[in-house]
Amino acid sequence: MTTLNIQKLKTDFPLVNKLIALEEISWFNPNITSLEEALPYVGLGEKNIEDASQRLSRFAPYLVEAFPETAAMKGIIESEVFEIEKMKESLEQQFSTPILGRLMLKKDSHLPISGSIKARGGIYEVLTHAEKLAIEAGLLNESDDYSKLMSDDFKQFFSQYSIAVGSTGNLGMSIGIMSAKLGFSVSVHMSADAREWKKNTLRSHGVNVVEYEQDYGVAVEQGRKEAEKDPMCFFIDDENSQTLFLGYSVAGERLKKQFEEKNILVNDEHPLFVYLPCGVGGGPGGVAFGLKMAFGDNVHCIFAEPTHSPCMLLGVHTGLHDEISVQDIGIDNITAADGLAVGRASGFVGRAMERLLDGYYTMTDEAMYLQLGLLNKQEGIKLEPSALAGMMGAIVVSKDQQYQDRMKFDDAKMKNATHLVWATGGGMVPELEMNSYLEKSGIK
Ligand SMILES: *Cc1c(COP(=O)(O)O)cnc(C)c1O
Repeated sequence: MTTLNIQKLKTDFPLVNKLIALEEISWFNPNITSLEEALPYVGLGEKNIEDASQRLSRFAPYLVEAFPETAAMKGIIESEVFEIEKMKESLEQQFSTPILGRLMLKKDSHLPISGSIKARGGIYEVLTHAEKLAIEAGLLNESDDYSKLMSDDFKQFFSQYSIAVGSTGNLGMSIGIMSAKLGFSVSVHMSADAREWKKNTLRSHGVNVVEYEQDYGVAVEQGRKEAEKDPMCFFIDDENSQTLFLGYSVAGERLKKQFEEKNILVNDEHPLFVYLPCGVGGGPGGVAFGLKMAFGDNVHCIFAEPTHSPCMLLGVHTGLHDEISVQDIGIDNITAADGLAVGRASGFVGRAMERLLDGYYTMTDEAMYLQLGLLNKQEGIKLEPSALAGMMGAIVVSKDQQYQDRMKFDDAKMKNATHLVWATGGGMVPELEMNSYLEKSGIK
């Protein structure tokens, strides 16, 4: 790795000074291209998403039995999407800014099994690994009814193998719960910021929780090292995994179907803006990829990060990607938004997706708590702090005339717009913990 010249970086990229000052900022990338031009850089396509979608369908009969809460959806792990009109009014008032178009919420916060967006990628990667092992051992065919994986024989088979992952909390929750259910021996390496209740929940599922005093990067590195020592152990690499990424990407076609059912148009005259909280990047990156494949150039994805952990904005804006961390420029990576406390972004996601993302913005923890309280008050929906990072997006876009002009979004188009806040976590937060979040928000 080359040594960074921070002084030069600040001169070349003045925005870095604002990041260092922990200001709330936004940056709309002038170098976005069409999907067609950008696709070769992603290295994945329609076929890969289709493959992921079919794999999830094969596992649906198993999931119905293993997790009865998925039965209503026939074993397909998917969340609701709906309009949040009262919250829109609240945002308009708070920021004295009209939001043209409708404001909606995608409730990945309440996905079954693990209560966060990680129920997409994390669970998908565990299922992919399990399927591969079972097929290679001659125990499973793609045409089988996968509910046979419930049997003791399969649990016995998977118990010879182990799975490891490093996590700030939610990824560990979905990989831990899913792996343990199948019968794997599973270790979750948790960073210091991971909440106690998440560790306890995992332990109650029989997951081996390894705790670290340091941040996410260290937990991942230690997890990787442990796994390398054991040939039967599979390490799930949150920073580079294409499998995780594809698990998230299936959300695109699913949302398209949900919008069709609700008669919500997305086309040249009806833009869709999607606001995605970003940690290492796999979740929002995979979802954004799926959205682009489903809606083409009419969907505009914007990533949201805490002011204390703006790793993706920093990596993409400077072009250094995973060769720079927020700590390198003196930012502490300490935030109440657990899933987002990541100092160094995924190089894979940043390089694959930079041409397809409209923009990035940062938000303070205080602002996330405030919106957490307001969303509860206005709509009766309870989320964890990180999941509120997307809530400012419609304001950021509505205020940025330069971005709107460059993209040729006139008022007529904006009035037709759908602004979608991707709510990424909170469904499993214990009541006491949630009450303390609400307390912090100051909203009664
Ligand atoms: C993990 C997570 C994210 C972001 O996903 P990454 O893949 O880390 O970028 C956002 N919100 C919540 C609640 C999460 O747990």
